[in-house]
Amino acid sequence: MSSKGRIIINTGDGKGKTTAALGLAFRALGHGHRVCVIQFLKGKGDYGERLFGNTLENLEWHICGKGFVFKKQDITADREIAGQGFQLAKEKIESNHFDLVILDEITYLTLYQFLEVEAIVEVLKKKPERLSVVLTGRSADEALIEIADTVTSMDVVKHAFTQGIKAQKGIEY
Ligand code: ATP
Ligand code: MG
Repeated sequence: MSSKGRIIINTGDGKGKTTAALGLAFRALGHGHRVCVIQFLKGKGDYGERLFGNTLENLEWHICGKGFVFKKQDITADREIAGQGFQLAKEKIESNHFDLVILDEITYLTLYQFLEVEAIVEVLKKKPERLSVVLTGRSADEALIEIADTVTSMDVVKHAFTQGIKAQKGIEY
């Protein structure tokens, strides 16, 4: 068994990127590993995973966002929060305290040009050897895919939402 940490990306337009990352957190926690989740660009909603996450030992959970970024009038505030979130991610990675760090929805930082992808690549290249990092979000940058060990693309075959079914508690949040 190799103790060298991995860089894992869950990308694509289909459902399952965040929940797969959290499945991995579940697995790591079961072995007594220390896990840090940092969520970018999402509001402080009643997400079931956060409510549960807050009850778990060995799991640290940070939210760096204030709702969806598409509201253009808020773009400056979003940029500032995104920058602070990335700084936090960098600190948590460099701390050498964790076995697994999950950067949920981080791909949007470069997609919306809040951050140069090189900044993320640099932090990942210098990560502690044993640390695994999961990055999630649609349209993962080529530069991230290049340095990753494992990349999975979730494809939409069907999604309830496009059939007019609303987001459901316990399934979508
Ligand atoms: P999940 O959190 O369920 O694993 P995800 O991380 O793959 O989904 P995101 O784009 O981060 O997907 O999803 C934001 C929200 O939209 C989540 O509540 C998710 O369940 C839902 N969702 C995911 N994929 C789709 C889709 N193709 N169409 C509509 N809604 C989606
Ligand atoms: Mg997600």
